[in-house]
Amino acid sequence: MTIAILKEPINETRVSLLPEAADTLTKQNIVVNIEKNAGALAYAPDELYQSKNIRIAERTEILNASDIILTIQPLSQEEITALKTNAILIGIYQPLFNYQFIKQLAEKNITAFSLDMMPRTTRAQSMDVLSSQANIAGYKAVLEAANIYPRYFPMFMTAAGSIKPARVLILGAGVAGLQAIATARRLGAVVEVFDTRPAVKEEVMSLGAKFIEVEGAADASKAGGYAVEQTEEYKQRQQQKIAASVAKADIIITTAQIPGRKAPVLITNEMLDSMKPGSIIIDLAAATGGNTLQTKNNETVKYKNITIVGNSNLAATMPGDASKLYGKNVLNFLQLIITKEGNINLNFEDDIVAGCCITHGGKVVNERVGGLID
Ligand code: NAD
Repeated sequence: MTIAILKEPINETRVSLLPEAADTLTKQNIVVNIEKNAGALAYAPDELYQSKNIRIAERTEILNASDIILTIQPLSQEEITALKTNAILIGIYQPLFNYQFIKQLAEKNITAFSLDMMPRTTRAQSMDVLSSQANIAGYKAVLEAANIYPRYFPMFMTAAGSIKPARVLILGAGVAGLQAIATARRLGAVVEVFDTRPAVKEEVMSLGAKFIEVEGAADASKAGGYAVEQTEEYKQRQQQKIAASVAKADIIITTAQIPGRKAPVLITNEMLDSMKPGSIIIDLAAATGGNTLQTKNNETVKYKNITIVGNSNLAATMPGDASKLYGKNVLNFLQLIITKEGNINLNFEDDIVAGCCITHGGKVVNERVGGLID
């Protein structure tokens, strides 16, 4: 059996498997190939892979002949056509937004696993790419903000005068938000947090931040750890509370997302107008529309005197650790679909295998995805 690591498109610095992780597979008698320079931007040169008996191969050969292909980003239409029928593709494909790509995979009879569809269960935690990468995004969001913020984060009392600590507002206390709180606190900021899931209040407080309470949130306990759409009344109450905190904030990190839907607009233009000059917003929901009306995906924009950063792949700014963690997630997932002897064994009775599988046997097999495609 052959597993191949594909070089990612331009702007993606990560690689799906670093040499150490790939070596685990060669020890299972699996032939592992990698496209030339695939690990270069993650500081894993070809020679390191070769030292682990991993062969450098041409992209065409990888596409035409591999049983399993590991990627992070989706492939182009032409590349899907080049794949071997029945090949297995594993990556982060955002199938709730990329219908066309998913349709093409089904037409070509590819078995595709999109790891962003991982069930939010305890057993799946070691394979959860959204968590491992969001953790990095939350950390880097704060560092990015500190880098461009024209003032200090911590409080200082010096002979030349006193400096007040920066006020950071974090909207959404999921994986990225919690890491952002911890990082901002370490830098000495005063942190306020809001999330529609009241369950996160204790975690937020244990990190030394203040939780903004809004009564009457919709019950998300059956949404598998994700947020759900809120009522109009709740949204209005939420907006009033958030508006007061936005006006006081120096830095805002927004992370609010709802799977399969456009991100909620939490910061209106009116709220932006109330912000202090020099304030920074890092919008981690930029890929799905952003939490402000001014956010532009993968762009930094100025709105009056406020900087809004819409970099939706902050994990790629730390390709070493991001690739290491992503690769470990992938490796753990591979152990579910290959036997100890190194053969493919797809068990669709397993909730993780079934939950991540989006196309198989010429069909779109995932209920959440299938419902969106005619
Ligand atoms: P996410 O990226 O989907 O959303 C980020 C946060 O935004 C969430 O906390 C969400 O509640 C919040 N949000 C959504 N709409 C909002 C709004 N209108 N206003 C304010 N906040 C809003 O979430 P995530 O970081 O991927 O994780 C969500 C939860 O799932 C977390 O509690 C996390 O611990 C849990 N989780 C569990 C597992 C597991 O058990 N395997 C894995 C990962 C995450």
